[in-house]
Amino acid sequence: MPPVGPSSRVGSGATLAASTGFASVLSRAGGAHAPADQATVRRSNLALVLQTVRTTGQWSRAKIASETGLNKATVSSLVGELIQRRLVSEGEIERGGMGRPGQIVGLDRSVAFFIGLEINVDYVAGVVTDLAGVPVARQRLSLDVRELGPARTLAKAAELAMSLLGRAGSGESAAQAVSLNVAIPGMIDADHGILAYAPNLEWRDVDITHTLRGLLGMPRTRITVDNDANMAAVAEFTSGSMAGVRDIVVLTGEVGIGGGVVAGGELLRGAHGFFGEVGHMAVASEDVLCGCGRRRCWEALVGLAAILRTIAEPGDPLHDPSLDLVTRLQEIEHRADAGDRRTLEGLTMVAKGLGQGASILVNIFNPEVIVFGGYFAALARFFDKPLQEELYSRIIAPGGGGCRVEYSTLGFEAAALGGAHAGIHDVMTDPSLVDASGVVLAPDANVLTYAGG
Ligand SMILES: [Zn+2]
Repeated sequence: MPPVGPSSRVGSGATLAASTGFASVLSRAGGAHAPADQATVRRSNLALVLQTVRTTGQWSRAKIASETGLNKATVSSLVGELIQRRLVSEGEIERGGMGRPGQIVGLDRSVAFFIGLEINVDYVAGVVTDLAGVPVARQRLSLDVRELGPARTLAKAAELAMSLLGRAGSGESAAQAVSLNVAIPGMIDADHGILAYAPNLEWRDVDITHTLRGLLGMPRTRITVDNDANMAAVAEFTSGSMAGVRDIVVLTGEVGIGGGVVAGGELLRGAHGFFGEVGHMAVASEDVLCGCGRRRCWEALVGLAAILRTIAEPGDPLHDPSLDLVTRLQEIEHRADAGDRRTLEGLTMVAKGLGQGASILVNIFNPEVIVFGGYFAALARFFDKPLQEELYSRIIAPGGGGCRVEYSTLGFEAAALGGAHAGIHDVMTDPSLVDASGVVLAPDANVLTYAGG
């Protein structure tokens, strides 16, 4: 077997990542051009073959070889290892091609599963996907998370994760969770799996990963925690209707408003991982108090709590956190459709405030798309016109800087879905993370590779 050089194949991996837009979003600089030893080269080639199989669907070893530029013997060896790790499996014999027929290789979607959870003010959401990123189980629980507090909420979240994983299994082999990511609207110390501060949940210094590890019967599953807006941006970039768009600003529409930004295909994190607290830009003209204790924050003007306060009296069922959020939003739509003046005026006021704050982000980041998620998407038909008028009147670049407005199609499970995709990303980048004896990660691997360096 000729030696596999570090230069060309590692480089091709990077090209593929760029062309699919998948592997690049969460990766940090470095790696692709660093000097590589034999083990590193093998890992890169393993990732290249796995990403090729994922991108192209089902192919023979010969086609994988011609696509990747690797020789056939190397591809056979790499495919053998991926089969051993239960990441790919062999299907039918390929017919009709030139030369010796080969067996088709595709992703093995029956064993490895990825869990994403989101904890927010009004709910805990969970999604389980297979290795291809296709959701196989999902659920959202309406909960008053502030009232429950961290310990009881995390217990509910762990229960939800186990129940969803139980539904993901298919007959013979029990589903295994390769990774579990928890998205939270707050500032996260990802290296240590700790939530530093979530103003709207009123949580401080909560050790998320160790608490969940103690609650879950999954000793070898990688558990990570990340910011909800970051994970929503990952979801839009990898699987939403904006998949592959390399410059996106995603706004979560909850009680708080977080900003997730993908710039040039890279998720922005800031120097210490605290990027994206756009909800606390001081843009509100009203002297309203924010959950963070400051005044005039953007989210205190246009967040979910703000619109509810604007359109409904304190005793109104719209404020009841035990009622499902989607049901409450449907009630707002119903009132607006019935011509209720207070509702319509409130929606217009929020839409203008939304456009005003969003214009600052568009002026800074010049994205191709700005995506409004969460409750903004649910009420898009009422927000859209005043929002766009306000937004484009304040963008300084000609033609709105080429930025278009979109509303998320991923619902309130966007951040959970992004968390599951973050786990897939890790395996696609380094398939050797998955144990050869089955699909589990090294037990001490509880920090995402892309977090902090
Ligand atoms: Zn604030």
